[in-house]
Amino acid sequence: MSRFWSDVVRELTPYVPGEQPKLANLVKLNTNENPYGPSPRALQAIHAAVNDTLRLYPDPNAEALKAAIASYHDVNAGNVFVGNGSDEILAHVFLGLLKHARPVLFPDITYSFYPVYCGLYQVAFETVPLADDFSIRVADYARPNGGIIFPNPNAPTGMALALAEIEQLLAANPDSVVVIDEAYIDFGGASAIPLTRRYPNLLVVQTLSKSRSLAGLRVGFAVGHADLIEALERVKNSFNSYPLDRLASAGAIAAFADHDYFEQTRQAVIDSREQLASELVALGFEVLPSAANFIFVRHPQHDAEKSALALRQRGIVVRHFRLPRIEQFLRITVGTDEQCAALVAALQEILDER
Ligand SMILES: *Cc1c(COP(=O)(O)O)cnc(C)c1O
Repeated sequence: MSRFWSDVVRELTPYVPGEQPKLANLVKLNTNENPYGPSPRALQAIHAAVNDTLRLYPDPNAEALKAAIASYHDVNAGNVFVGNGSDEILAHVFLGLLKHARPVLFPDITYSFYPVYCGLYQVAFETVPLADDFSIRVADYARPNGGIIFPNPNAPTGMALALAEIEQLLAANPDSVVVIDEAYIDFGGASAIPLTRRYPNLLVVQTLSKSRSLAGLRVGFAVGHADLIEALERVKNSFNSYPLDRLASAGAIAAFADHDYFEQTRQAVIDSREQLASELVALGFEVLPSAANFIFVRHPQHDAEKSALALRQRGIVVRHFRLPRIEQFLRITVGTDEQCAALVAALQEILDER
């Protein structure tokens, strides 16, 4: 705390990202990164973009990338917004589309960045409890609101909501923006992007950080009605005209072009997830049904925080949230089969010891 701080900064409760440990050789299953590298074609494109043109600013509108995303998702470029990671887009969304007199609604258990943006931009919000089985019940969102946002699949539960339920929510809230944060959609859920054609109040946000293994490049995008996109452009052009650098655009465009690599790696993650889930069930864990690249698990006889510590002592990092309702859960990123096997062996040891 310093006397130089503004009142806003004094009141902030910043988001705490999962640890990026400096130790080498850790099995890192705590921040939902992809265990496989980016597409070799993306890496090549990034290398090729390292040249004299770096002295020039990038295209402020990232038109080539928007065109690639529009073509991939069969929408118009005017329906696409791009940002420096989807976190940046979400920040613009809270300021530009969700800050109203009525509170924005999101689940009590969800991406913990949402309340942080509300603090930063002074957006009124209310949380809606997940059902006892940790699912999102759309009927619970039938109350006056200034917008609705949640991830699908939800984080950190991994549970997906069917498109029919999302459509119900869109139809019931024609005067609010509904934002679906699809950071994990490629690992099993059905994307709501096709619904953006029929629902002008729907904004879908995706990222290249998870399913395209480019968390280090910082590229996210949003798809929705041109009026929603224009709101985001207005915020972006009042904040940073060049959120995507030349390397990021080049890498992202190439990543979308490498369909085979994308399909191969996401299928590998899905297969490993199913294998890991069944092995943890065999160890006595309760595993929530996951459509993401992580699983959310609890053991009826073993304290989650202690297990996380014991794993760390064995060189394996997972994520534990000291939060109401989920303090007995561990969120475990799906790694390679080798990493998953190391995790299962370590948990077996830890359970045997106690
Ligand atoms: C990882 C994640 C993001 C952020 O992704 P970036 O594009 O890397 O900023 C957004 N929403 C959810 C739910 C996430 O898990």
